Amino acid sequence: MKILKIQTLRGPNYWSIRRHKLVLMRLDLEEWADKTTSEIPGFYEGLIAALPSLNEHHCSPGHQGGFLQRVREGTMMGHVIEHVALELQEMAGMPVGFGRTRETATPGIYQVVIEYQNEQAGRYAARAGVRMCQSIAETGTYAAAELVQDLRDLREFAASAALGPSTETLIKEAEARGIPWMPLSARFMIQLGYGVHQKRIQATLSNRTGVLGVELACDKEGTKNILASAGVPVPRGTVIHYLDELQGAIEDVGGYPIVLKPLDGNHGRGITIDINSWEAAEEAYDLASAASKTKSVIVERYYVGRDHRVLVVNGQVIAVAERVPANVVGNGRSTVEQLIEEVNRDPQRGDGHDNVLTRITIDKLSLDLLQKQGYAMDSVVPAGERVFLRATANLSTGGIAVDRTDEIHPENVWLFSRVAKIIGLDIAGIDVVTPDISQPLRDVSGVIVEVNAAPGFRMHVAPSQGLPRNVAGAVFDMLFPSPQPSRVPILAVTGTNGKTTTTRLLAHIVKQTGQITGYTTTDGTYIGDYLVESGDNTGPQSAQLILSDPTVEVAVLETARGGILRSGLGFDQCDVGVVLNVAADHLGIGDIDTVEQLAKLKSVLVESVMPKGYAVLNADDPLVSQMAQRVKAQIAYFSMNPDNELVARHTAAGGLAAIYENGYLSILKGDWTLRIEQAVNVPLTMGGRAPFMIANALAACLAAFAQGVKIEDIRSALSSFQASVGQTPGRMNLFKLGSYHALLDYAHNPHSYKALGSFVLNWPGLRIGVVGAPGDRRDEDFVTLGKLSAEMFDRIIVKEDSDRRGREPGVVAKLICQGIAEAISAGTANTSKVEYELILDETTAVNKALDEAPAGSLVVILPEGVNKALTLIEARKPIKESVAMQ
Ligand code: ATP
Ligand code: ATP
Ligand code: MG
Ligand code: MG
Repeated sequence: MKILKIQTLRGPNYWSIRRHKLVLMRLDLEEWADKTTSEIPGFYEGLIAALPSLNEHHCSPGHQGGFLQRVREGTMMGHVIEHVALELQEMAGMPVGFGRTRETATPGIYQVVIEYQNEQAGRYAARAGVRMCQSIAETGTYAAAELVQDLRDLREFAASAALGPSTETLIKEAEARGIPWMPLSARFMIQLGYGVHQKRIQATLSNRTGVLGVELACDKEGTKNILASAGVPVPRGTVIHYLDELQGAIEDVGGYPIVLKPLDGNHGRGITIDINSWEAAEEAYDLASAASKTKSVIVERYYVGRDHRVLVVNGQVIAVAERVPANVVGNGRSTVEQLIEEVNRDPQRGDGHDNVLTRITIDKLSLDLLQKQGYAMDSVVPAGERVFLRATANLSTGGIAVDRTDEIHPENVWLFSRVAKIIGLDIAGIDVVTPDISQPLRDVSGVIVEVNAAPGFRMHVAPSQGLPRNVAGAVFDMLFPSPQPSRVPILAVTGTNGKTTTTRLLAHIVKQTGQITGYTTTDGTYIGDYLVESGDNTGPQSAQLILSDPTVEVAVLETARGGILRSGLGFDQCDVGVVLNVAADHLGIGDIDTVEQLAKLKSVLVESVMPKGYAVLNADDPLVSQMAQRVKAQIAYFSMNPDNELVARHTAAGGLAAIYENGYLSILKGDWTLRIEQAVNVPLTMGGRAPFMIANALAACLAAFAQGVKIEDIRSALSSFQASVGQTPGRMNLFKLGSYHALLDYAHNPHSYKALGSFVLNWPGLRIGVVGAPGDRRDEDFVTLGKLSAEMFDRIIVKEDSDRRGREPGVVAKLICQGIAEAISAGTANTSKVEYELILDETTAVNKALDEAPAGSLVVILPEGVNKALTLIEARKPIKESVAMQ
């Protein structure tokens, strides 16, 4: 068995619209290709011995043991690998359920798809699945030690990639609300929502958290002073910098018992509470001073009471937790040490902040505290006796949390919400020491000891006792108060030909509405009128660049085959999805071998349109119109044929459509025909002579109309959009060169050649073609291009790209010539006297064609790259770019 390739999918994709997180493995089964599992002696037995839990997989028989039954009866190895890879992730604590296995067009080569929670773990599990199955097939076993190691590695991936527990709860809430999120490339920030509507969080800081509030909260003394002057009960205290100030400070706060803590500490570090003697105070001073960056120590009165954390979000008290310091309860037999071990065995306890609870660790403070209570680590604790191991209740030192949200007194609710506002925090964690949270603080001498910015959520979301509280919900109510949207409209365009042209036109239409439009195309990524990045930007990363831009109000995204195939769509759903056409191109690449498969791939886009949105489909192309069956959204059809039956039925039922009728581009809405513009007035259609451009324009108009753009805006956009080098470089750019014209166009597959032909054949004079094609197509495709060239041109120069994409020089050109010759002898050529010659160098070929062009002729150049060909044309000083050629 040999793994040929592993890819990670992250959005709606060929295999699933709903399951975005998939690993796709291309696998050569080699000698195992033509054996089913029942034909490999000992395989079934070896597999259940290695992974008995596979019994839980139901598979197609649909009952427990169903999958193993298939293994016993005989199934393909790829299928077993899929189930093993899923099971390994399940066993490592990352349950996943989706898998697919398909043989490709090449016998013995399979595509195995498995779901993941964690990308790296998914890829690892795919490899481990192959390893395990190969070992069992060859030796009958998979060593237990190997499996242990696999599971350990898988768990490590999960642990190392895990976001903090608070971030996790926020993300879960985002997903529950259908708000898209993506990690940003710095500072663990997460973007919530898209474009102008996006918000950011970092742990539990939000983009609304003010820096002044955070700085004040981090300054415990400042916090206390501000609160004290607002009449809020805070501990009596003072700050000192030298030991010789300690005595005076103790007197100032009214004597023992006192608390010493660093001015700038957190997580309970350096704090000693309930200090009752000078000796203890001196020791505590050293501890606190050492924990402070500025050697500043707070001296405070000690207030007796229980420790609470109150979470306030957007001025509202959302949750209250009582924090109980780390402790153990005796059973009359075990020592303190044994009791701690027992408590730490709880799987909920981990190290640091990542688990629900933290393990109890012992330090000098704990030993002192034990001693105060009359115990040592080896003392046996009487049954029922509670022994504290920490004085402070921070969860990060092993404390537990008890929910008290329903017990808090209304006056305290008022007070705490006021406190968060006084400090200036949208999300605040208030630490309160009071004997009873159900009484007003003032009545029971409770105090607020500090206010925390970026408070942890885990004690509220997963308290050790009491009701879990959905605190993340409150954060989202604040960040995205309804009906405020979190998304910007996404209009996405796919198809075999015309994507860039249609995307640009659609973006141009949307711009008329005054909204800031971000769009991606094969030439580059743009925001408004500016280029952000040039390059072939039709994949998910470019989409995400637009969607994470805080200025973008509408996204228009050219969405090409390559990106969907490689990693899925860059968005989970869109508002309008357009499919222009599906025709043979790039077949044989990425295991897409037929036009039907290509159609399935492109339909991913329209299947991802949200139910309220629109799928805009070409009613003249059956491969496209059939996609309607799989679409959950509303449908709108466009057609060049005013009598198209599908459109007629659709509009009769009240549906939306766009058609070309009586020379007009028109929208049909129910019984009404809304004329947008006459094709002759739409420069993009070359005076109405380029039918495929009319089709592209219909699609763009319909998409815009479906999104709510007004007809007037669409009309003015159509008349101001030209197939010029500026707006659509390399797409039907027409130049007048003295007595003849030159046309620069990028057609490079049979479907677009035919489209081009529909325009060229309308040309009254001699038609000359300078043709070639990218080398990564199949041999038969070049022959077809040759035939099609012969159908539209009178004279042809065949040239080659300088980047031949792996082909030997001359091979592609010869195949094109072969096609021309075949067309001539079959009588399908434009004229039986088509002249053709072979000039491999593009520059020489173009210059020759232009030099020899007779008056009234049209030289059509199909260049390797737009810029080079453009330079050659511009050197001849085109008179003016003529577009409408009336
Ligand atoms: P964290 O950041 O985890 O909240 P911290 O290091 O910032 O902790 P504080 O919140 O100031 O420290 O104190 C930690 C705990 O010590 C408090 O929650 C409270 O239980 C106790 N404590 C602090 N000051 C006093 C006081 N004056 N009287 C009684 N208990 C106190
Ligand atoms: P690519 O896959 O290279 O990004 P694309 O789909 O973005 O191509 P465009 O760049 O808009 O397509 O157009 C490329 C060429 O395809 C045009 O120059 C024209 O020859 C042809 N073409 C454009 N629209 C259509 C159409 N609707 N049907 C057939 N051919 C078309
Ligand atoms: Mg605190
Ligand atoms: Mg394109």
